[in-house]
Amino acid sequence: MSVLVLAEIDNGALSPATARIVAAASRLGPVDLLVPGPQAAGAEAARIAGVAKVFTSAVEMRAESLAMLLSTLTMRYRYIVAGASSLGKDVMPRLAAMLDIQPVTDIVAIESPTRFVRPVYAGNALETVSDPQDRHVLTIRAAAFRPAAGDNDAPVEVLDAPAVSAAKLIATHRNESDIPDLPTARIVVAGGVSVGSREGFALVEKLASVLGAAIGATRAAVDAGYAPNDWQVGQTGKIIAPELYIAVGISGALQHLAGIQGARKIIAINKDAEAPLVRIADLALIGDLFEIVPQLIAELEKA
Ligand code: FAD
Repeated sequence: MSVLVLAEIDNGALSPATARIVAAASRLGPVDLLVPGPQAAGAEAARIAGVAKVFTSAVEMRAESLAMLLSTLTMRYRYIVAGASSLGKDVMPRLAAMLDIQPVTDIVAIESPTRFVRPVYAGNALETVSDPQDRHVLTIRAAAFRPAAGDNDAPVEVLDAPAVSAAKLIATHRNESDIPDLPTARIVVAGGVSVGSREGFALVEKLASVLGAAIGATRAAVDAGYAPNDWQVGQTGKIIAPELYIAVGISGALQHLAGIQGARKIIAINKDAEAPLVRIADLALIGDLFEIVPQLIAELEKA
């Protein structure tokens, strides 16, 4: 019942999401990890608890090359698993087609070796899928699982990279920032359109900075130009699962809630005590955000 996991690589380094995917996949059997990146990332991956063996390869980070490399390894494994990330969504359907396996995607819970839970209808319902195939191609929502510990020392084997296809990766563009990564952050502070302006959103950013938190936004705030697109949380934005989610002036539309279901504790700051997000919050501060947030920042700065 062995499992092969494709590690998440972020800008050449091992992403913290990998330890979460390994923790989930360990429920299916002993895990081997394929790290498509530098050997330093492989060495870091070898420390993740539950990993029996690490393969590294200087393979090109493109779906065609990764699917080809995975397909050369898969005969040894009953499960081939990746994150439900842009990488996993690119590689795994291709691999599944090559292997003639129906993939099960976006898994948030593993009930048994052949029963998986996944959200449908933008997270408004959860469906349990029974997968009777002999071998399984799965993608996992990393944010739904706690990370595996980092006290391991698994052996590392270097694999040859497969011959590259005609297509070539020219460049990857990313925004450089010290702000924690939204999908894996411990604390997220997000703002809604009610902040009223780009300057108003700076209040949300200040609160996040004091807490060392990642910054999120609603689609309405993004559409209004108060926050960049890659801060959007929700059905058409990022899926997050922080220990603490602080929602500043956010109503809690269904499409927003679809992205925060994994949050463990929620604090809502809103002047409407009946707002949907206030109703599901563990703690609500009812009042004007322009009064509450500066007071919060001042108290936190004293601490
Ligand atoms: P509003 O709903 O307008 O809420 C503003 C809130 O601020 C209210 O609760 C109000 O009481 C409070 N408020 C106002 N002034 C103050 C103040 N001074 N102090 C304190 N509180 C105050 N949205 C997402 O967020 N993410 C998505 O991924 C997403 N995907 C979508 C996909 C589709 C196909 C569609 C149709 C919509 C999607 N939306 C998404 C939009 C979503 O439906 C909502 O419109 C949006 O989430 C609302 O954002 P908001 O909470 O900032 O604004």
